[in-house]
Amino acid sequence: MSNPSAELPEPLDVIAVGAHPDDVEIAVGGTLARMVQQGLRVGIVDLTDGEPTPLSPGPEVRLAEARKAAEILGVQVRETLTLPNRRLFDGFDERVALAKVFRRYRPRLVMGIADKTPMASPDHWQAMQITDAAIFYSRLTKWDELFENLPVHRIHSHIWYPLSFQTTCLPEGGGRFVSDISDTLEMKLESIRAYQTQFPPGKERVFQLVESQNRLLGAIAGFQAGEMLISATTLGIRNVFETICGNSG
Ligand SMILES: [Zn+2]
Repeated sequence: MSNPSAELPEPLDVIAVGAHPDDVEIAVGGTLARMVQQGLRVGIVDLTDGEPTPLSPGPEVRLAEARKAAEILGVQVRETLTLPNRRLFDGFDERVALAKVFRRYRPRLVMGIADKTPMASPDHWQAMQITDAAIFYSRLTKWDELFENLPVHRIHSHIWYPLSFQTTCLPEGGGRFVSDISDTLEMKLESIRAYQTQFPPGKERVFQLVESQNRLLGAIAGFQAGEMLISATTLGIRNVFETICGNSG
């Protein structure tokens, strides 16, 4: 048997998973860009290529847009899996496909979609189930043959990101917090603009929604802009004073 560990790529600190290219940018582009600035190795995994869509000539164009968006954010890796857009369903093969990516890149933190997105693609909810399960599958022993003999990998932390603009309700979780994206909001908006086939001038509303939401969240938390994140597990704080008062300068 060959030794797959010898061929593994350099590990990533963080992997953010979306159903379609642009999900991750819209929800957590600012946080990922900030993590890159902080010296972390960040990857984006899209479960599908997001095609077809009404205005895109085809998957090649969408993939080129996704590459450009990743460059703008500065993330080191972007992988687009070949699961089917519009008929993405949580199933065993889908879980294994994503868990193999986790086993290859061995992230410490995985960020995935939080909850349903009413009136938008049902793929998002399925992506949440697939991601939650793949985090677990990544660490399962005695199943090597299902994962091309990739080594098991235990992911330490899991964050959900809300993607719905149609509701202000937030899903339950271990703890909500706002990530400071004051320095990277512009970069985030530019990365979303890279998807010209998805956001032509007639869809300017999307940018207004994203920016207003990020400005409001930021203002509430004491920043210029922010993104809402939800820790899947209860948040523990070692230094209460520093964490709670550190932001107030
Ligand atoms: Zn989407």
